[in-house]
Amino acid sequence: MSTTAVIPAAKNFSCDQELYAWYQQDFSDLPFEVVYKQDILRQGLAFDEQAFRGDYKTKDYFIFTFDRVPLSDMQLGENWKAPEEIRISGGPHELKPTVISVRINPHSPYKVGIYETKLTLFFQNEPVASVTFPAIPEYYNHQQEFNLTKPIGETAPVIEWGYLIYLTVFRNCQYFGKDEECQYCDINHNWRQQKKVGRPYTGVKSIPELLEALSAIDRYDTTAQAYTLTGGSVTAQLQGKNEVDFYLQYAAAIEKKFPRRWISKMVIQAWELDDCRRAVDAGVQIYHPNYEVWDKQLFAKICPGKQRYIGWETWIRRVVESASVFGAANVIPNFVAGVEMAQPYGFQEVDAAVKSSTEGLEYFMSRGISPRFTTWLPEPFTPLGQSEPAPLEYYLKLLRSYRATHRKYQLPVPPGYGPAGAGRAVFSVSAFMDVL
Ligand code: SF4
Repeated sequence: MSTTAVIPAAKNFSCDQELYAWYQQDFSDLPFEVVYKQDILRQGLAFDEQAFRGDYKTKDYFIFTFDRVPLSDMQLGENWKAPEEIRISGGPHELKPTVISVRINPHSPYKVGIYETKLTLFFQNEPVASVTFPAIPEYYNHQQEFNLTKPIGETAPVIEWGYLIYLTVFRNCQYFGKDEECQYCDINHNWRQQKKVGRPYTGVKSIPELLEALSAIDRYDTTAQAYTLTGGSVTAQLQGKNEVDFYLQYAAAIEKKFPRRWISKMVIQAWELDDCRRAVDAGVQIYHPNYEVWDKQLFAKICPGKQRYIGWETWIRRVVESASVFGAANVIPNFVAGVEMAQPYGFQEVDAAVKSSTEGLEYFMSRGISPRFTTWLPEPFTPLGQSEPAPLEYYLKLLRSYRATHRKYQLPVPPGYGPAGAGRAVFSVSAFMDVL
């Protein structure tokens, strides 16, 4: 690891032929679909104005921006017009359908535009795949039948091609400011930006409003199979409650009104066992105590608030212990893949970064716990926002390592993510489900 700001060498491809030849030589054991998916996730996606036509579900900004540029730099109004996700298929490589979350970057080598009248993905100006935008969920069309004060896409949006209802009930984080916030996370910056441009954002969602929105989904939707309950960390009190009481009141209310209607998932900090038991009693099935980065020293630097309040050792211990309450397969901690290469602290060599993250996979998977990962994209207002994204090579090596470790311990496909495999996966912020 280095303390100097050196950007890891990333290979840049000038054309699709060059990219494909590189893939064939070094990574042909992976489906080619994951090359575009990871490359688009780590760099972001541009749009031609002509692409914004017809009806489709637009980006609801369900928790972070995930964008590579500030909203104020989006000359085409992409923050209002871009789809939540794209699904690419066909093209010269006969791609299987592949769902990718949209992270806006007008300067990306990947762009969605029109080619021969059809929505098309371009890489370095070459058409490489057909593109579909997600349909507007049926329940969005019925929101006026319900007693809602905000657009339903603000209260209970769906992502992952309609599979996952995403309930960010607290849109800020009490790890506040650069000495506390996770250094890649723009939850608080996102809040400020969205309020500034007039998006009807809710700081703390009301339980009655949330239940009303879920009633609309219950009545009109047949696609969503799971919901995620989440938000920023609560280190002091929020509305007179500590973190455990605050979040579990939502879980309990949802499961009381809609028992087991959807798979219930919670993304939250690592809790002690008694609190985990309370979560299970409230109806939470899947627990995501995200450890973010495996390397202990990097955890302290990249997640200073979590380090100060809980600490790496306690965090990891709690993740492992929680398996006795939820069942190991239902404990799925996330790490932000690639952030361990963020400068100035991170690994400068791809293999060293993959080795470190693989140690984490080994540690958890040997105990029956399958982590998952999201793809780090440097968001501009975060302390790591000026770093370059981790190289594509890193993600492909990590996917290979993830798959091998998962196979080695003969673990089940993580529940609550929909189908696995290239052409079927809907998890949109990394390709880990595409390679299982
Ligand atoms: S705990 Fe970290 S990653 Fe989670 S919302 Fe707060 S700052 Fe962001």
